[in-house]
Amino acid sequence: MHATSNQLWRLAKRPVGLIKESDFEFHEDAIPALTENQVLVRTIYLSLDPAIRGWLMDRKSYIPPVAIGEVMRGITIGEVAESRHADFKTGDIVQGLLGWQSWAVTDGSALTRLPAEAVPDLKAFPGVLSMVGPTAYFGLLDVGKPQNGDTLVVSAAAGAVGSIVGQIGKIKGCRVVGIAGSDEKCRWITETLGFDAAINYKNEDVSEQLSKHCPDGIDIYFENVGGLILDQVLTQVNVHGRIVVCGLISQYNATEPVPGPYNFDLVLTQRIRVQGFVILDYLDRVTEAVEELGKWLAQGNIQYRVHVVEGLEKAPQAVNMLFEGTNRGKLIIQVAEEPSR
Ligand code: NDP
Repeated sequence: MHATSNQLWRLAKRPVGLIKESDFEFHEDAIPALTENQVLVRTIYLSLDPAIRGWLMDRKSYIPPVAIGEVMRGITIGEVAESRHADFKTGDIVQGLLGWQSWAVTDGSALTRLPAEAVPDLKAFPGVLSMVGPTAYFGLLDVGKPQNGDTLVVSAAAGAVGSIVGQIGKIKGCRVVGIAGSDEKCRWITETLGFDAAINYKNEDVSEQLSKHCPDGIDIYFENVGGLILDQVLTQVNVHGRIVVCGLISQYNATEPVPGPYNFDLVLTQRIRVQGFVILDYLDRVTEAVEELGKWLAQGNIQYRVHVVEGLEKAPQAVNMLFEGTNRGKLIIQVAEEPSR
């Protein structure tokens, strides 16, 4: 027997600036009985991603905005509690865009069965294997195209994506310099993850530190934040350098149009390739990344950390940890206990 009621968050209004709890409404709805070809999933982990902020804005993007009244969109990892679908059975561990809710009924079309039996820690999926790792993998390797000996600079370097980008950069023979927002984060990426250097953008002169740590200039910049940091990096990018625009988190909560980059002329004079990247373009190749990342994980060449917040009711407040920089690693909500395995 499973629970009969579903706790969930619906979008109540479009946030202005940082997300507020009052932008959402908490509901408790009945779980409907399954019909043919449907699956009932018990949510275990809900991934909180910076992209969430963009999904709340009614403007042109790579995905339509969440509608007012809709269950808030979010990637979840869960366990199949009941199935009337040929491709899924009770007990399967699955991933889907099932939203901020403790139970979800789905037709299975956007559900992926995860090979949980092969992975000792279920948190490795949100931490690396499901979206974060493939983003780092394809963003760096396909768009950044690192060569042995290149200098790679990564922003939000101690975060979920950035920390994996830097480690892949090391595997590929790059000199890797991370930019992060605390001394603890800088120590973690250098002492534990093997980055060559780290810059704390909150208390160091970024331009000065980039000159010191990138004596041969910057060949690849993996951009996660935008704003002033992008301008500071731009002045030191080499001729034919590459900028992978993966995220611009510093402007996701902006209430006014964001100016810049001011040093855009360098894109012309240094013949820099600036390319946007969205992981959705790589869904048909995800297996390739997961196999490689799984190998690196097993060999100890990649490490990750996961920041777990307990309870679905905390989701609206917890999202802002991403924008305040208080998350240490991939931010997830633990909605329910993992099944014993
Ligand atoms: P993180 O785990 O990196 O958390 C976000 C981090 O961003 C914070 O911890 C904080 O770290 C940093 N940050 C927040 N505000 C600012 C700011 N104003 N200036 C500088 N740094 C800031 O999150 P993710 O790894 O999930 O995401 C990282 C980036 O990757 C985001 O921009 C996200 O949108 C993007 N992304 C893009 C995808 C794609 O397909 N294009 C897919 C997944 C993620 P600190 O303490 O260092 O400031």
